Amino acid sequence: MLKGKVAIVTGSTSGIGLGIARALAGAGADIVMNGFGDAGEIEKLRAGIESEFKVRAIYIGADMSKPAEIEKLAKEATARMGRIDIVVNNAGIQHVAPIQHFPPEKWDAVIAINLSSAFHLVRHTLPQMLDRNWGRIINIASAHGLVASVDKVAYVAAKHGLVGLTKVVALETARTGVTCNAICPGWVLTPLVQKQIDARAEREGIPVEKAKLDLLGEKQPSLEFVTPEQLGGLAVFLCSPAADQIRGQAIAADGGWTAQ
Ligand code: NAD
Repeated sequence: MLKGKVAIVTGSTSGIGLGIARALAGAGADIVMNGFGDAGEIEKLRAGIESEFKVRAIYIGADMSKPAEIEKLAKEATARMGRIDIVVNNAGIQHVAPIQHFPPEKWDAVIAINLSSAFHLVRHTLPQMLDRNWGRIINIASAHGLVASVDKVAYVAAKHGLVGLTKVVALETARTGVTCNAICPGWVLTPLVQKQIDARAEREGIPVEKAKLDLLGEKQPSLEFVTPEQLGGLAVFLCSPAADQIRGQAIAADGGWTAQ
């Protein structure tokens, strides 16, 4: 279905981004990977996508907190792959603290990586999508793009902002073949969440398994984690013709979190 299309997935060296990159490759798209990590591990993941799905995959290690590197990512990806058709803004970080103890530099970093990076990557890639009258922009927001939790002021603000950005881009592209939507996952068991589980286990002096169940029980009625594969499937659907008129939506895949 996506043969001949090129997708950039930011933060695709781990977790949800990797799941989405693999799913898009499974649907035939060539992939531009991005994110931090051990060079050897990243090369294994990149080569694995190429050999498993018979697509082209390249890696460009831009730091998504830096506007100049984002511009370079868009330019280099276009030069090496010939085009960009699908942008998945997924790179993200978390910091947990009450607002009066929230370090301002953490606020700046969370807003830069989780929100401003999407603004920059979209502004650098949208013109070529409009030229071809086809494109998909998928922003990985969060249940925290729809509702709040304590101690996550920067993350919740960034994700609500990302949902707002999604709606504006969808309206500005409404009469074109480019669509823009957000995916809002609930808890997914990735390194980003494992850190929060470990911190909870230590803080409360409980086993990690109990901390995991408590975390789910607090927010996610299904009591099951969402998986990167499920989110990959949703991203592929958003790239399909069936999704041509899905525009500006914040689609929750959250085990019932935001139905409460
Ligand atoms: P993760 O920590 O497994 O992956 C994050 C990815 O972003 C990694 O590839 C990392 O290298 C990359 N990254 C971080 N900072 C970067 C930077 N400055 N420049 C480039 N890449 C950078 O986390 P994840 O859980 O897979 O999260 C992916 C996205 O999904 C994030 O936006 C996160 O907010 C969102 N999300 C996660 C959950 C969850 O429960 N895990 C739920 C809702 C939304």
